[in-house]
Amino acid sequence: MKVVYNEAQKRHYPKHFVASGVITQNPEMPERADRLLAGAIEAGLEHELTVEQGPGPISAVHSPAYIEFLMSAHARWTRRQGASAEVIPNVHPVRSRSGYPRSVDGQAGYHMADTACPISADTWEAVRLSASTAVQATTAVLDGAASVYALSRPPGHHAFADMAGGFCYVNNSGVAAQGLRAVHDRVAILDVDLHHGNGTQGMFYDRADVLTVSLHCDPSRFYPFFWGYEDERGEGAGYGYNMNLPLARHSADAAFLEALDSAIARIRAYSPGALVVALGLDAYEGDPFGGLRVSTDGFGRIGEKIAGLRLPTVIVQEGGYLCDDLGRNLTRFLTGFAAQHTV
Ligand SMILES: [Zn+2]
Repeated sequence: MKVVYNEAQKRHYPKHFVASGVITQNPEMPERADRLLAGAIEAGLEHELTVEQGPGPISAVHSPAYIEFLMSAHARWTRRQGASAEVIPNVHPVRSRSGYPRSVDGQAGYHMADTACPISADTWEAVRLSASTAVQATTAVLDGAASVYALSRPPGHHAFADMAGGFCYVNNSGVAAQGLRAVHDRVAILDVDLHHGNGTQGMFYDRADVLTVSLHCDPSRFYPFFWGYEDERGEGAGYGYNMNLPLARHSADAAFLEALDSAIARIRAYSPGALVVALGLDAYEGDPFGGLRVSTDGFGRIGEKIAGLRLPTVIVQEGGYLCDDLGRNLTRFLTGFAAQHTV
């Protein structure tokens, strides 16, 4: 299996984060990518350098106004006297989306769900490359590879078609799924990140051609709070094609694997031509977010079970934060997956 990645994705280095009202270092740090790359190499993957893939795949799932905002916001923001080095909104369109502001601070609120995704001078380039990483992995799978691991960083699953959130700007898993649709009539996205894949859900909510399934910590007391409940099943033509499997806080391997069996049964019934795994490793018992208690061995079991679907698979990196076992958890997932995967 290949790991697709470009070190220039590390140039995005967000500083600002608010936790319990305290301003602190943003946990989505570039060092994550070093640990993950080492974990992929340890699993025997061969590194392929990401080459910029152009704007098409991003525009296929994100709105023109949002892309324009991501491209231009930092330059416009820093022209303001006394502005911070990073774009961080101080206003949000609570329960009203009728107007579209023209000023960059208004647009920042409109296009950013929270304050966890600051935009610096280097953000857009890194975000584009992170998406290109997913595109390149998708192309390799369409060209016949059984599976490819896209080390997409910054992550993407909290990004909606027109809104950033939770460290995410462009939805790399969504980009991959849309890319797979060029060949496959039905594509499934299985999100095993600690947090609900709300952006991915939103992106495909009214579509039956992309099934979205997410396992995550119960959002009633956990980010992203406003999405991720069982009764969110899709709308219109997409009704029945979104599945949420919230898990009680601090659930460990047994509960996670049991929910994963339900997810896999749903995907099998859908009979997709290809699969995107939105691979967060933050459900780990030692992850700083501390929501669930999946063990290192648990990630191996998760990989094995997903491989049992026997589908061409693009594995896209989502969350998973700095802790001693971050790389080891990826290694274990990838070796578990590779040991069982045939198509
Ligand atoms: Zn997460």
